[in-house]
Amino acid sequence: MKGEVIVVGGGLAGLSAALRLGDSGYRPIVLESRRRLGGRASSFDDAISGRAFDNCQHVLMGCCTNLLDFYTRIGVEDAIEWHDTIAWCRPDGGRDIMRAKCLPAPFHLATSFGRMKLLDGPGKRAVRRAMWRTLRIGRRGRHRYAGRCFRSLLDQWRQPEDAVRLFWEPIIVSACNTPLDQVAAVHGLQVFQDGFLAGRWHATMGVPRVPLRELYEPALAAITDAGGEVRLGWRASGIGSERRRVVGVETGRGFVRGDTVIAALPWAQLDGLIDPSLRKLDSRLTHLSELGHSPILGVHLLLDRPVMETPHLVMPGRETHWFFNKGTGDDGTQHIHAVVSAADAWMDRSGDAIEAAVLADLAHACPGVRDAEVLLVRPVKERQATFLASAEAEKVRPRVAPSPIGTGGGDLEGLYLAGDWCDTGWPATMEGAVRSGYLAAEAIAGVPLVVNDAPAGLLVRLLGAGSKGR
Ligand SMILES: Cc1cc2nc3c(=O)[nH]c(=O)nc-3n(C[C@H](O)[C@H](O)[C@H](O)COP(=O)(O)OP(=O)(O)OC[C@H]3O[C@@H](n4cnc5c(N)ncnc54)[C@H](O)[C@@H]3O)c2cc1C
Repeated sequence: MKGEVIVVGGGLAGLSAALRLGDSGYRPIVLESRRRLGGRASSFDDAISGRAFDNCQHVLMGCCTNLLDFYTRIGVEDAIEWHDTIAWCRPDGGRDIMRAKCLPAPFHLATSFGRMKLLDGPGKRAVRRAMWRTLRIGRRGRHRYAGRCFRSLLDQWRQPEDAVRLFWEPIIVSACNTPLDQVAAVHGLQVFQDGFLAGRWHATMGVPRVPLRELYEPALAAITDAGGEVRLGWRASGIGSERRRVVGVETGRGFVRGDTVIAALPWAQLDGLIDPSLRKLDSRLTHLSELGHSPILGVHLLLDRPVMETPHLVMPGRETHWFFNKGTGDDGTQHIHAVVSAADAWMDRSGDAIEAAVLADLAHACPGVRDAEVLLVRPVKERQATFLASAEAEKVRPRVAPSPIGTGGGDLEGLYLAGDWCDTGWPATMEGAVRSGYLAAEAIAGVPLVVNDAPAGLLVRLLGAGSKGR
């Protein structure tokens, strides 16, 4: 055994770090304040319906290589249902289907995009031009746009207002949970380069077929099988240090001694438990509070009959961004989940106002809802759902590993960070969280653990857009 590592936080970042450390011969000890794992990707028992509801629908894409690796390692890869079709509900209520056809990437979605009635001819031509530029910029080239917001790039590329509102906005806001005029250009470019243009598989959408808690609970057995330990109900209250070195973690149940600690907490919780003296010793901890938050609203709806046929619907131009069809029960009731990203405007709305707005959008997409009885409306407001993926945040997202102490300063030795808000290059996603966990484990173990990006298609690489990335 190579040594113990204390991992504070049993969300995806902490779990993935612990698992990889266990596999690499270390003994991870996970301290999680709650009685369950999974952090922000979790489920709860709804008292009225008696069902397990997720805090919100969680979606992934084929390009999430580290998350998929994690699923394979904990044995839940078959719990993901894959969709190669994205169904859009147009403002006129009609449907558009986006699906990869036989053309090679980056043109695999071109045929179905050409058939979509969402945009007029000039709108589609403008989007195609912007896609071409996005492709030519390449994975490495997108970093030239650091400091800019994606909206300014779309303006520079003369995207018509309808194309912005009906096409770019629904995709980017839901992928990055940040308004279009704030989201960093690097993230906007990444969503299209790595998600939509790089290959057919990259653009395939994955949706868990089981409640999130069933997806992530198997991590506990996987970590213990790898020689680690998971302590539920252990809340960290401080990080202990002596002479610029970590010596352990303070908890309500006593001090847990150890010289290597991964703080895999949300940034605000970490900020709350570090001592001001510690902040001075570690430059990564100085700007945490500049990261900001962006809320998400999820609304569970139970209807007495099926009204929605497709597995999901994107709702361009509407207040509700997505509807997910969660299935029809043996009793004929249908469970639909509505999602609103970057949902600041919804946070102070009453339950009645949320219900009225979401049902109006559902009726627009699925008129059958007008004849249905709505049995349950259960809104879940996540005010601190993710960090705000703005251009400013990109400047202050910290590295996971401490820089060595030397004449130029250095960070707290033995303190590693993990979480979707760390500098992974990804917006706040499950993939970003797992990447940060793998990066932290990699920095400790000193061996490569992060899974490379899925290689882009040959033509994409020939066009210069698939330059290697991690
Ligand atoms: C509503 C919503 C919808 C989302 N939708 C998607 C989506 O569709 N696709 C996607 O990829 N991502 C989505 N995300 C983002 C995704 O859930 C997160 O990026 C990811 O789960 C973050 O994992 P994490 O480990 O970094 O942090 P967390 O999940 O927050 O884990 C941190 C853990 O630390 C624990 N903790 C906190 N304080 C302490 C303490 N003092 N001591 C010990 N433990 C502590 C917490 O209980 C928690 O378990 C969504 C998030 C939300 C909230």
